[in-house]
Formats: sequence, C-alpha cells, structure tokens
Amino acid sequence: MFRRARLVLAAWFTLALAVTLLSTGAVAYELIRRDIDHEINNSLDQAQLAMKSMRPYPGAPGSRDDHDGDRDRLPPGIPSDVFIIYTDSKGDVTFNPRDIDVDDVDFHELGEDAEKHAETSDISTKDGHFRILSEEIGPGSFVHIGRSLEPRDHQLRTLTLVFASGGAAGILAAAAGGFWLAGLAMRPIRVSFERQRRFVSDASHELRTPLAVLRANGEVLQRHPDETLAANMDQVDAITAEAEAMTRLVEDLLTLARADEGAANLTRETVPLGAVLEDLGRDMEAVANARQIRLTVDSEPLEVIGDRGRLRQLAAILLDNALKYTPEGGEVTVRCAAHGKTAELSVADTGPGIPVAEQDKIFDRFVRADTARTRAAGGTGLGLAIAKWIAEAHGGRISVESTPGSGSRFIVRLPLAS
Ligand code: ADP
Repeated sequence: MFRRARLVLAAWFTLALAVTLLSTGAVAYELIRRDIDHEINNSLDQAQLAMKSMRPYPGAPGSRDDHDGDRDRLPPGIPSDVFIIYTDSKGDVTFNPRDIDVDDVDFHELGEDAEKHAETSDISTKDGHFRILSEEIGPGSFVHIGRSLEPRDHQLRTLTLVFASGGAAGILAAAAGGFWLAGLAMRPIRVSFERQRRFVSDASHELRTPLAVLRANGEVLQRHPDETLAANMDQVDAITAEAEAMTRLVEDLLTLARADEGAANLTRETVPLGAVLEDLGRDMEAVANARQIRLTVDSEPLEVIGDRGRLRQLAAILLDNALKYTPEGGEVTVRCAAHGKTAELSVADTGPGIPVAEQDKIFDRFVRADTARTRAAGGTGLGLAIAKWIAEAHGGRISVESTPGSGSRFIVRLPLAS
C-alpha cells in the first residue's frame, strides 16, 4: 500500500516537473527562435532599404551597368551575410555579386509569390536553406535579397539538443528525487499507521480476556435458569467486575484515540495544583488505609495553566499505581514544589521498583513491567501512556527514577503559571 502510494506520488511529481520543463523549454525555444528570425528579417529589411537608396538598382536591367556585377557594385549598408540577386523575366540570374550558389532556386516561382504578396520566403535547396525577400523592380524582373538560414538552423538544433538532454536529465533526477522525497514524506505516516495498527490489535487483544470471562460466567448462569441470583453470586460479581474493568479500558482507549486525533479538547485555566493534589490525597486516603500504606501529600500552593480534570487524572494515575504496586505497610509520598519556572510534582513509593531495562518503555501503550506484582495487579498498561500524554499536552515532561527492590519515584515537570 505504502509502496504504491510512494510510486504514485513520485510519478505525479515527475509528471508535474516534466510538464513545467517542457512548457518552459517550448516557450524559451520559441522566444529565441523569434529573436533570431527578427534579427534575420531586420538585416534583410536593412539591405532592402540600402538597395532602394541606389535606385535604379545597380546592375538592374536597364541600368547603366546592366551586367553581372561584382561585389563592389553593392551599396554600403548591406550586411556582410546578406546576398543580392537579380533575375530577369525569364527567371534567369542577371546579377549575383556575392556569387551565391543558387542554381537550384526557382526564381520564377519566388517572383510570382512576390507579385502576389511581396513577402519573404524560406526555401531549401541542395545548396542550403535560405530566407529570401523578393521585390519586383521592372516588368518580370526581381531583386532577391537573401540570407542563409544555416547558422540559425544550427543554433536552433543546438538549443533543442541542450533543452532535450537537460530536460531528460532533469526528469530522471526528478523521478529519483521524487521517489526519495515521497519515501521521506511517507515515513511519519507509515510510523503513525503502524502505531495505530498495533494499538487496535493490542486493544482487541486486551478486550478479549474480559469478554471471555463475561461469556463464561454468563454461560454458567444460563445453565441454571431456575437458581436464584444469590446462589450464583460469584458469577454475578465476576461479570460486574469484568464489566467495570472493560469500561475503564474502553475509557482509556478512547482517551488515547482522541489524543492521537488531537481532538481531546483540553481546557486552559489556572489550576491550583497544590489544592488539586491535597484533594486527591483525601480521596485516596481510604484506599491507602485499606492497604495499610502511609500516604503523605506535601504540596506548595502552586498554579499551572491547563485542564484541571486532566491534571488530576495524571496525578491519580501515578498515585493509583503507587498504591497498587506498593506492598502493605509501605509508604507513598506525593510532593509538589516550584523549581524556577517549573512545578515539580513527584509521587514516590517504597514498592518493588521497575527493572532498569524497562524504565524507558513503561510509558508506551500496553507495556507492563515484567514483575510478579505487575502480573498480580492485572492493569491494562495504558495509565502511564495517558499520564505522559497529559504531561506533554501541558508543555511538561514525565520521567521515572527507580531502584528495583527499593521503590520508584515518578516526576512530572510542568511550566508554572506566570
Ligand atoms: P498498569 O498499571 O495498568 O499496568 P501503567 O501504564 O499505569 O499500566 O503502568 C505500566 C507498568 O509500569 C505497570 O504495569 C508496572 O509494571 C509499572 N509501574 C507503574 N507504576 C509503578 C510503580 N509505582 N511501581 C512499580 N511499577 C510500576
């Protein structure tokens, strides 16, 4: 799929460049050709003017020197690459001072053309390619003012060659560059696609277990339709617990999916972080007591800008983990203090800690450290991913310091409200 998209992108890029090169080349070619033609026509007009100033034309039938003249007879002002030829009513050359080889030229036809529209004609003979301006100077006799088009043709051929080879090289380079660029542009899309794919597959996997439990317990209940609920309380409790776990999982999945879309809509208000933590501590007191864990909240009255609900959720994830993973009799301490322009919130526990090799990974989705306690706690592995997203969405960072066997300390740094 990505390879095809990459090829299509590269092809469009190459096509766009080819069209641009081709049209720019064609326009440039046409402009240069017109310029050269203009210069040629000018030199013919200039020669015609010079000849007119000499009327009657030297060597013209009826003029004083009515014979094949030599180059000295041409008036000044005739460009050196312009030739003058007279022809009589039979179309025979009567004057050719620059000895141009024009045996092959049908002057009779040129004369007829000139009578009709007195214009220049481009003619090709075995002796070359010429532009000739013909003008009647007597009954049936003409002066033909001409210039070879060979240099111009050569110039245009060279131009075509340069444009064609430059264009072909450009198109080849564009195709290769386009393919490379398309690959580069698609890399983040591929990474994000791969991430989404893994997310969906991990999520489906996580949903399978609770669904299987729900189904198994439901089937047990179906097998005894006449028994009372009280007699099957184990199944009912299991169903309720799994449904609750699934609700939490689905909520977490939705949070992360919205975060990925950038559609999480965080509010921006001044949040008294200290008060939020004190409040959270009071709410979790009962859980800590039930597990015989000493919970301390020690917070300065700090303020940050952000979404109060999400910031509370971030602290709750860390505190919930600390209480979940710390064995009975342990200690959990929540602190919040200002360090320069940063609020530093930390949640430390005396739990099992996190293996060093896994400390970087635990903020990834569905990652759970490979410890006995983690397995027993049976979490989803999404909490810290959500915590990381919330911290970063507030312009902050989250990190962990942990010594396996003697506890963990999660630290969140957030910019203080100024
Ligand atoms: P969950 O707790 O649902 O498994 P989290 O994303 O919150 O998912 O945490 C990821 C993993 O990080 C946990 O499975 C656990 O292995 C480890 N972890 C998180 N907090 C602690 C902690 N306070 N002490 C030890 N391990 C922890």
